[in-house]
Amino acid sequence: MLADLERLIELQQVDLRLQELRQHIELFPRRRQETEQELKRARDYVAQLRQRHTDSLKERKKLELDVQQLDEKISKHKEQMYEVKSNEAYRALQHEIEEEQQKKTQAEDRVLDAMIALEELETQIKQGEAELAGVEKRTGETLRELGQEEAVRTAEAAELSAQRDGLRSGISDDTLVIYDRIARAHGGLALAEARDEVCQACRIHIRPQVYSELKRNEQIYYCESCHRILYYIPVPQSGIEQPVSAG
Ligand SMILES: [Zn+2]
Repeated sequence: MLADLERLIELQQVDLRLQELRQHIELFPRRRQETEQELKRARDYVAQLRQRHTDSLKERKKLELDVQQLDEKISKHKEQMYEVKSNEAYRALQHEIEEEQQKKTQAEDRVLDAMIALEELETQIKQGEAELAGVEKRTGETLRELGQEEAVRTAEAAELSAQRDGLRSGISDDTLVIYDRIARAHGGLALAEARDEVCQACRIHIRPQVYSELKRNEQIYYCESCHRILYYIPVPQSGIEQPVSAG
């Protein structure tokens, strides 16, 4: 086989693998970001619950203080009842105490509601924390794996890149110019196998005369339809299926 052609076939394999690897490597930042975002969401959720817990606690303390103040007012007014001289003033105090009692009952109900809300929040925080621990463990593992995978892929790409340089240095400049141009136009696929008189890239039929010539792989032929460089891989002769022919 023509030396250039042989190296081109190898170069295309390396180029395609390299292209695939680079696409894979490009995705690492996004995959890392997605994992970090998942962790952030779980942390934010717990932080939000804790904040609500702190707020509810403050609210409960405020309500308890309201109850306490109302209690003090009621006691004070009850004491004043012993000191009033008129029935009218007595009834006014009585009325005031009744209203304060009502307010106190309402405040006590709200304290109770706040306590229930706090308990619910505590349960949610415990669940959130357990979930967060799971997410932290899982995303930590994912990030570690991503780091390892990226290192392996990057090393592989560097190795292939060196291999590519080596291959290219062994191919004539004219051939490389053609190869690069066709590769650019066809997403890296500059070469196509010719098999059974058909270009395997664009499926066009190859004229029998051209096919029999290109089978010798002594010269570079181009597909008349897709313009890729054609190459032929000799079919291995199987002694069972085909009679052994001299050649
Ligand atoms: Zn073709």
